[in-house]
Amino acid sequence: MDKNLILRDLPGMDRLLQEDGVRKAAAEAVLSEIRAEILAGEIAAVPPYAEILKLVRSTAPTGLKRVINATGVVLHTNLGRAPLAARAADAVARAAAGYSDLEFDLKTGERGSRLSELRAKLRALTNAEDALAVNNNAAAVLLALSALCAGREVVVSRGELVEIGGSFRVPEVIAQGGARLREVGATNAVNIADYANAISDETAALLKVHTSNYRILGYTKEVSVAELAELAKNRGLPLIYDLGGGSLVDIGFEPKVQEIVAQGADIVCFSGDKLLGGPQAGIILGRADLIEKCRKHPLYRALRLDKLSLAALCATLEIYENLEQAGREIPVLSMLTASPAEILQKARDLLALVSPQAQKRLEIVETSAQAGGGSLPGAEFPSYALALREPAQLKQALRTREIPIIARVHRDMLLLDLRTIDPDDFTEIATALGELL
Ligand SMILES: *Cc1c(COP(=O)(O)O)cnc(C)c1O
Repeated sequence: MDKNLILRDLPGMDRLLQEDGVRKAAAEAVLSEIRAEILAGEIAAVPPYAEILKLVRSTAPTGLKRVINATGVVLHTNLGRAPLAARAADAVARAAAGYSDLEFDLKTGERGSRLSELRAKLRALTNAEDALAVNNNAAAVLLALSALCAGREVVVSRGELVEIGGSFRVPEVIAQGGARLREVGATNAVNIADYANAISDETAALLKVHTSNYRILGYTKEVSVAELAELAKNRGLPLIYDLGGGSLVDIGFEPKVQEIVAQGADIVCFSGDKLLGGPQAGIILGRADLIEKCRKHPLYRALRLDKLSLAALCATLEIYENLEQAGREIPVLSMLTASPAEILQKARDLLALVSPQAQKRLEIVETSAQAGGGSLPGAEFPSYALALREPAQLKQALRTREIPIIARVHRDMLLLDLRTIDPDDFTEIATALGELL
């Protein structure tokens, strides 16, 4: 039969679009696929309408695709860093789908502040005088420098002039903030006298930057936050600390944000979606007069947090009001703090779900997981993985599935690291391994 005649049986776009749950992009994709199959002679007739409709409805939306992170890197920058806690994700969905009291005071019926609840929560959790949140930590640092240091000098250790990734380089951010960089010390060593000698009438602030994604081994010297804070106070200057990933709980590698505040840093900036385990955001904590300057700076309006991130951040911070709960509910924390024994048990549970013939080719091996996201460089998190000896094609096959599974290859073994795998995904992974092995 003439292919063009067969094509006439294809349902029209209009008809499909009148059905519930049909997206235009999905309908177009399915229709063009069927058209191509007919023209290629792969099928001799248009499938029944009900079948086409089912296909259209089940075609996943374009945009961000959910993936399973089996890399063992908890804050994987390429995979979206921190997954939100369920409660935070619910808060986002509610804020997204309806109206909210974003800038409305329900008690007085007047205009309110979008930040008041967030401020109260951050102050209670960190003992900082005041707090502000913007779109990400890069924005937080840029805003603090612009509002507090423009036109004057910022004193920074040479060893802290880091590049975080993308185009975030400390010297360039200082220049973008309209300030001048005054470097002190050497790459590997700086002492308090270096800072003291660099202070002049031109100085606006001392800046400390967490070196996040790199570490110098061997002979190194740096100045503690407490010492820098004392110097800053004596000279009437603010100490600004770009902490990178700040944590509110003890994860065994880094001081907590509360401790940095207590040690006297006047402004502390950190990311919402690194160790905090919340949405992309930049949090600025510190002295009320300095935070007020940040809030009043014109850049604040350009960098401010949107309502979805605000909803997620408030919900995440609410979980921290009970620290034990935070350890369980915040995915980043539960992944980072899981014990090797718990992870080994997860590995056994996953292996038990895999088909017997696939099981024969898999083994459980010890691995080393990472925090990622430029946090805790060099810190190793003992972990376990399901391992396969011949990794080559499987890595790609797992990655190109309907729900992609992202594995890593190490020493000729394909590893599915259990530290970052959610048990809710075990069935999906077991099915994939059963089909592929
Ligand atoms: C990650 C990081 C940043 C950038 O934070 P984003 O939230 O990714 O914008 C800035 N400074 C330091 C020290 C960092 O580690």
